[in-house]
Amino acid sequence: MSTQIILPRMLQVGENAILATPNVLASLGCSRPLIITDKMMVQLGYAKKVQDVLADQDMQADIFDDTVPEPTVGSIQAGVKRVQESNYDSIIALGGGSPIDSAKAISILGKFGGQMRDYKFPRVVSEAGLPIIAIPTTAGTGSEVTRVTIITDETTDEKMLCMGIGFMPIAALVDYNLTLSVPARTTADTGIDALTHAMEAYVSKKASLYSDTQALQSMRLIAPNLRRVYHNGADKEAREAMMLGSTLAGIAFSNASVALVHGMSRPIGAAFHVPHGLSNAMLLPTVTAYSIPGAPKRYADCARAMGIATQQDSDEGANAKLIAELVALNEELNVPTPEQFGIDRAHFMGLLTTMAEQALASGSPSNNPRVPSAEDVIV
Ligand code: NAD
Repeated sequence: MSTQIILPRMLQVGENAILATPNVLASLGCSRPLIITDKMMVQLGYAKKVQDVLADQDMQADIFDDTVPEPTVGSIQAGVKRVQESNYDSIIALGGGSPIDSAKAISILGKFGGQMRDYKFPRVVSEAGLPIIAIPTTAGTGSEVTRVTIITDETTDEKMLCMGIGFMPIAALVDYNLTLSVPARTTADTGIDALTHAMEAYVSKKASLYSDTQALQSMRLIAPNLRRVYHNGADKEAREAMMLGSTLAGIAFSNASVALVHGMSRPIGAAFHVPHGLSNAMLLPTVTAYSIPGAPKRYADCARAMGIATQQDSDEGANAKLIAELVALNEELNVPTPEQFGIDRAHFMGLLTTMAEQALASGSPSNNPRVPSAEDVIV
């Protein structure tokens, strides 16, 4: 059986990769980009830095910085209008997963029109809009290398999963220097997001030898470095490992899938405004414990790749260590419980059925090694 692999056309990876922006644009035949970003990237000077390196090569870039974290349908409208009314030949998506996902949505709606809901899974978007050059500034989502965007419909509190090669950036510049400024909380949340991508890609029913290779290497990079970057954000060696691990995890899950953690995390994130990585972190130990019986050997491989079990450990022993490690990691990274985050229990219970329906409808749980019923999700 063969496997289809979808990747950006070009990756520039490593320290100061951002300086290659003009060369990457020129080699793609582009010269008039719109930088889609957020206000923090402007404040940190990153957007100006991109403008400056482009100006050195006589390229002019405008900035659209009105994206919001966990982007909503409403938040992308101004960006859609901007690209429709201008003559940009490309988009530079600069920021964490939120600006990159916003850019993907703006690119497609800007070219093809319609409503974001029209592009929701199970529809598959095959044609691209304006080409996107993605520059991630968090080591987490892997959105720079995925054919996915996630946009929240704020009228229904639904995080809509939209997929297809049309959402894949044409190029990505992966420069860990840009992550040195990420605060500790976001470092932890995004790092667990990347770890979850790698684990879920590896245990997914759609995993292949190709995605396995990326996923295992990603876990090898992330596991020993996540605590390091949380405790010392200036640790360049650990930041570099996290950035590469995040991109590899993105490649892995985009070419396999995510599974139950992500399926359940999206409705919780949308209903209670929990940052994406944090809602994954809250769920990861429990959902992993539930899922292990569906693929005990695969989860044991994860424990070994993460360096917390050895070949001498039985699969059962390795899996016990895996659960203990995920719990300990959450403790050390100060991941709050839902109650500590401020989620009202009665409100949560009132939305359980709707959230379970949304989780199952997203398609992700059906790729889980142990496929849950609605009752399982609720419990
Ligand atoms: P984010 O982009 O929402 O950023 C979180 C916060 O960190 C923001 O305030 C941002 O300004 C700030 N920030 C980002 N980079 C920074 C830096 N270098 N220095 C200082 N501050 C910085 O967070 P995220 O976790 O990267 O992205 C989350 C979004 O990505 C969610 O909407 C989620 O659904 C989506 N997502 C997409 C995919 C995909 O494949 N498309 C995968 C996973 C998650």
